[in-house]
Amino acid sequence: MQDKTMTTTDILEGRKAHIHEKGAVPFNIACEKQSVAGSVSQRACVFCGSRVVLYPIADALHVIHGPIGCAAYTWDIRGAWSSGPQLHRMSFSTDLQEKDVIYGGEKKLYQALVELIEHYRPKAAFIYSTCIVGLIGDDVEAICRRISAETGVETIPVHSEGFKGSKKDGYSAACNALNQLVGTGDTNGISPLSINILGDFNIAGETWVIKDYYERMGVEVVATITGDGRVDDIRRCHGAALNVVQCSGSMTQLATMMKEKYGIPIIRASYFGIEDMSKALYDVAEYLNDKTVMRNTQNLVRDEVSKLVPQLRKYKKDLKGKRAAVYTGGAFKALSMIRSLRTLGMKTVIAGSQTGNQQDYARLQELSDEGTIILDDTNPLELAKFLEEKKADLLIGGVKERPIAYKLGLGFCDHNHERKIGLAGFEGMLNFAKEVHGTVTSPVWKLAALHRKDVWSATSRQHRQGDES
Ligand code: SF4
Repeated sequence: MQDKTMTTTDILEGRKAHIHEKGAVPFNIACEKQSVAGSVSQRACVFCGSRVVLYPIADALHVIHGPIGCAAYTWDIRGAWSSGPQLHRMSFSTDLQEKDVIYGGEKKLYQALVELIEHYRPKAAFIYSTCIVGLIGDDVEAICRRISAETGVETIPVHSEGFKGSKKDGYSAACNALNQLVGTGDTNGISPLSINILGDFNIAGETWVIKDYYERMGVEVVATITGDGRVDDIRRCHGAALNVVQCSGSMTQLATMMKEKYGIPIIRASYFGIEDMSKALYDVAEYLNDKTVMRNTQNLVRDEVSKLVPQLRKYKKDLKGKRAAVYTGGAFKALSMIRSLRTLGMKTVIAGSQTGNQQDYARLQELSDEGTIILDDTNPLELAKFLEEKKADLLIGGVKERPIAYKLGLGFCDHNHERKIGLAGFEGMLNFAKEVHGTVTSPVWKLAALHRKDVWSATSRQHRQGDES
């Protein structure tokens, strides 16, 4: 019998248009809208959006102008590794208090920047505005100009007041900030066979894996934006021949700005799964149109795939027919997830994202099997309801989705900021298979299912007794 608490989980009226079941009705989904009031969205705020994008620039100072909670919430937010400086891992804040809210926080910000820049001598400084700064109206831009002039360290305001939109608006604020650096460095000596890697954040060293592939192909990587990022590389990245954009939600705007200003073409890429990883490398080789690069790419893909495929077989055997749910930040990543799960013999029964657009969701539903639920900007109740209804064995998502899975007694795999295992590239696909296999086949879920059954029958009994009395 189905649990009564689940059957009473209704979808909010305003949310219905954001949910589509493939095959039930012609495809139509609402997206790119403000979250529905009353729905506890899984999305983060504008400030958080800009923080996750800029955070991996390792030799820059990152100062959060706001209450300490905003800084604590985003402290070391990504497992973004640096091959050199570690300054990005600090979370500096002006710690605005009641007095500052009344009299303004500009002096405090100025003083903090003078001290920090003198102490750390960073290559640049990013100053993030939070909700309260938007309300009290501190002129952060003027302080940044003054500090830049006095210290010679470029100090860039990030207009990321948390309340003024969604995480996606934070991406835009971050791109505007980065745009102030692009074009200010010397491009001499950059090869015509060169690219920038945009939208990879070096979680567990993934940017290094991807950069190594491109270098083995004979391609120069001018800047990695922002994984293991450096200010001086970003300053000269307008000298690259091509921008390769992953995580299209966060970096497309910067790539578009560079296309308009410097004529640099853009290609989209995903580095997850065998198909998408290989395609990303071949797309770059084709664009650069160089025989040696193409030959190197063919050799690389052949070598890596022939090593990987036999290793995946043993995982596939156990995972065949298992059902997964995928909830990601941008929808482009969800597409790669579906393909990777298919490689492992698994079926995706729910696929959703926080910030997908019409085009992304159309591709998502095209790729999905009949009956797959597609969700835009979901909330915990909806997600729990569909996980139950679709009998998912596994949820793949980020830190905010983890407790939902565990409360339901389901396996969970982190595919977002906090993980310590690289999932990009060919070796990443093997890690992904190991992660999924270890989670789905863990015996602990059988115990959790028993416990859940007890809880449900007790809940149903209480409901029945309530109905009878
Ligand atoms: S910027 Fe606003 S919404 Fe974001 S963490 Fe700070 S207070 Fe919360």
